[in-house]
Amino acid sequence: MPNRGTHCLVYGHLLRLINRLGTGICAVMLLTAAAPRKGEPPLTAQTQRSGGVIDADQAKLTFDSADLSFEIFPDREAIAGIATLTFTAKEPLARLVIDLDRNLPVSAIQVEGVALRPGTWSNPQGKLTIPLPRPLAKGDRVTARISYRGTPHVAVRAPWDDGFVWAKTKDGKPWVATTAEGYGCDLFWPCLDFPTGEPGRVDLHIKVPKGLSAPSNGILLGVDRHRDGRSTWNWRIKHPNTYGIALNIGPYQQITGSYKSRFGNSIPMFYWHLPGAKDKALALFAEFAPTLDFFESVIGPYPFGDEKLGVVETPHLGMEHQTINAYGNGYAKAAEGFDWLFQHELSHEWFGNQLTVANWDDYWLHEGFGSYMQPLYGRWREGEARYAAMLDLTRAKIINAAPVVSGTIRTEEEVYEDKSGGPGGDIYSKGSWTLHTLRWLIGDKPFFDATRRLVYGRPDPKPGNFVPRYGSTIEFEALVNEVTEKNYTWFFNAYLRQAALPELITSTQRGVMMLEWKSASGPFPMPVDVQIDDQITRVEMPDGKGSLPIPDGAHIVIDPFARILKRSRAIEKMHSFQQLRLGG
Ligand SMILES: [Zn+2]
Repeated sequence: MPNRGTHCLVYGHLLRLINRLGTGICAVMLLTAAAPRKGEPPLTAQTQRSGGVIDADQAKLTFDSADLSFEIFPDREAIAGIATLTFTAKEPLARLVIDLDRNLPVSAIQVEGVALRPGTWSNPQGKLTIPLPRPLAKGDRVTARISYRGTPHVAVRAPWDDGFVWAKTKDGKPWVATTAEGYGCDLFWPCLDFPTGEPGRVDLHIKVPKGLSAPSNGILLGVDRHRDGRSTWNWRIKHPNTYGIALNIGPYQQITGSYKSRFGNSIPMFYWHLPGAKDKALALFAEFAPTLDFFESVIGPYPFGDEKLGVVETPHLGMEHQTINAYGNGYAKAAEGFDWLFQHELSHEWFGNQLTVANWDDYWLHEGFGSYMQPLYGRWREGEARYAAMLDLTRAKIINAAPVVSGTIRTEEEVYEDKSGGPGGDIYSKGSWTLHTLRWLIGDKPFFDATRRLVYGRPDPKPGNFVPRYGSTIEFEALVNEVTEKNYTWFFNAYLRQAALPELITSTQRGVMMLEWKSASGPFPMPVDVQIDDQITRVEMPDGKGSLPIPDGAHIVIDPFARILKRSRAIEKMHSFQQLRLGG
């Protein structure tokens, strides 16, 4: 998901004010639809949470497949669904517990084709509980068919909260989208709402009104045209991220092309856009191939090349829906010459959808890498100056109020929302700067080798030899230690496991400069470049201390290329100044 407000700085003071009020100006400005009932119907705490400690019964399930039929009624903002879910029991099991918003009442359930008596299932808080007619032994499979319908929750400020976005195009046609990262897949389909609840396969059948299309995840199996003018769009996707399943409905026009990969395969590319902006749509589509080229060269194969690279224009800013990325950046132009929103969401195909963190606590691996890819792409295109300029824009956003990683099992909102004590936006900005510093510290090859192994679970990814996987901060740390054959735990402890940044203290006496790191996490042996007049010297800092001789009258600049994320009193004073201004 895009960082809240990150790229809306053009709105300046208004943005800061609105951010303080807890709303996103980007979303506010984009949601121009005719007043849907935003935030209604209300959600239970259970439905609103995604991830966290896994329910004991749900932990016993392997989610083999889901076949999801949706009927969409934009005129009354309602849906009807039939979900056929197949699970394998990892342990003996007497009941199925499945997450589903209670605003979508269940009208019928069949288990193994046999209808259950109404009243045998219950869903008071959003945990649909289905007693099994026959208990399952370890290794048994079960298929449940769940029919439901109702008025799904409407998002207030998607994608920073979630639900349906019922918008209209300029000429009054329905334009519908869903987001589910924060609140989870249970907003519109029965699922296991935690990161490791990915089904092995999902089939989608999306029935939409006349004249509308429903681009969605994976490959298009076909479109059924009905006598009443409606159509059903049939899609199939393997290993989707739980929040990656998305409905997109509108009077779309389609642009297609094919990308010849350096790995030998051809990747179909699609962009579904609203009518009336063909030139702008074509200009965005022209960015797909060079962006793929960057990711495939630097990270590795596009993870879903046998399905597609898909992007769809949405009435909200953006979201990393697997193989159907949401794009709502209004074709904005920027000094760096590419669309950051498209680039950011596409990065999540590697960092989010191929690599998914098993616990939201490690969410910075999605957003830190996802954010770092924009300056890195700037560098790929134009060199170090663009990289430094783009990276610098995020430095002042680092807040350091809470550690990036807590070491506990967390929900999405506990991590994303700084109001609830989470690291909030630091998972983007501090995550990105942590990676910037790490790349300099260990060097490009070890950095990208460790990254590649984290993403694919192997050093030699090729199309067909990997599938989406779960990862963690601890795993990334171990990979860095392994590829470098050194111990960098001090680095991960300092930047991710405590809030405050390391501070570099310097003093000069009798022609010698003393440097010392102050870090609450213990020894911090980070080397430091020091520029003396026109010469740069690397000062090694074993035990966090170092020194170097300084000629009389020399001009000194510490860390002249800003390689190291460290405490900046100037930025702290700036944050205090901004707070005071807003308070006044
Ligand atoms: Zn993101």
